[in-house]
Amino acid sequence: MSASVAGLDASLRSWVESANDPACDFPIQNLPFGRFRRAEGEPWRIGVAIGDQVVDLEVAGLFPHQEMKQLLRTSPFERRALRQALVEGLQHGSAQRAALERALLPQSQVQLGLPCEIGDYTDFYVGIHHATAVGRQFRPDNPLLPNYKWVPIGYHGRASTIQASGSAFHRPVGQVKPPDAEAPSVQPSARLDFELELGIFIGRGNAQGEAVPLARAEDHVFGLALFNDWSARDLQAWEYQPLGPFLSKNFASTVSPWMVTLDALEPFRLPWQRAEGEPRPLPYLDGEHNSARGAFDVKLEVWLQTPQMARAGQAGDCISRSGFAESAYWTVAQLVAHHTVNGCRLESGDLFGSGTLSGPLPEQAGSLLELTQGGRQPLRLSSGETRSFLEDGDTVILRAFCEREGFRRIGFGECRGTVLPARPPGT
Ligand code: MN
Repeated sequence: MSASVAGLDASLRSWVESANDPACDFPIQNLPFGRFRRAEGEPWRIGVAIGDQVVDLEVAGLFPHQEMKQLLRTSPFERRALRQALVEGLQHGSAQRAALERALLPQSQVQLGLPCEIGDYTDFYVGIHHATAVGRQFRPDNPLLPNYKWVPIGYHGRASTIQASGSAFHRPVGQVKPPDAEAPSVQPSARLDFELELGIFIGRGNAQGEAVPLARAEDHVFGLALFNDWSARDLQAWEYQPLGPFLSKNFASTVSPWMVTLDALEPFRLPWQRAEGEPRPLPYLDGEHNSARGAFDVKLEVWLQTPQMARAGQAGDCISRSGFAESAYWTVAQLVAHHTVNGCRLESGDLFGSGTLSGPLPEQAGSLLELTQGGRQPLRLSSGETRSFLEDGDTVILRAFCEREGFRRIGFGECRGTVLPARPPGT
């Protein structure tokens, strides 16, 4: 582990008591960054989650700007110094407690927004079990296309409709064509789905024309968050060839409020290895650090709360559990190196979606398309209800956490979104 990262010691405690609860996602070992405001219409400010509180970085005197872009542009060295200052100020017995107490606000009393203004958004497809299972549904004889094991597959998505956790969106309307229909028709999607993904936030950008080498790729990553890439499967099936998804994806996506830094994830790194018989990556995607420590052991969960459950005060059912490391064919660093190999310019605040992170087993799938076999085997819920795809009023909650013997568990908080009925035509 890198000795220069402060605050990873499991024995560290904070004077913010809620942070010491073992079940809390935000102990002093985590310190994720996000944006908050006290009231609608106020400018967003940079905050750090600690327990059930948020530290206002500017009020705390730890960072002289309230613009997240300014923080995203800082160097890894500057970020580590900021983390060090936060750990010193927030740890039990700190002499700076009184000064920092003035910068604390309860998370329950602020609005949490998108972690930053998102410039460009690219969705990758690193979940090989997802790619295989979905490929089998769309192309039974040819599930995984031959480029998959060589190219980190992705497409440019749309940032304008990415929403903060807690938002709702209308069921999309679009063209669908059932196989037995002669012509397509326009209707609300009947096969609305979620996609369990991680979001990768770009910190520092690169100059146009300059590829980011794999060995320095992580210097350009600020942190990870949860990402739900809502998908209309019926629209997707009709539109996706030959250029890939379009309106089936860009009506809404939801991202969690906190960016968990790679420094906080340091104890949860894993070697990245290809199984026997898999092709070795091309040289620009292959490197020593990437092989030794390029993967992250992040556990993932999908929860579904129907309107009936909500009315009964039930939190919902956990309908899937998977993990980043066992789902992903490519690492975060490889995605950055690949995205820039042609000279493409990344900017601070760009977002990558990982792609749906389905584990190797059918019950670890990160979408309903897989969990219900394309709708043929509906899920049975604890309420007695069933679901093939999402219904109006359903809320999907993504969660993630990291745990390892000898280290403090850290969490990502939650990514929550609710489906509203389609808008009636003409509204
Ligand atoms: Mn996706």
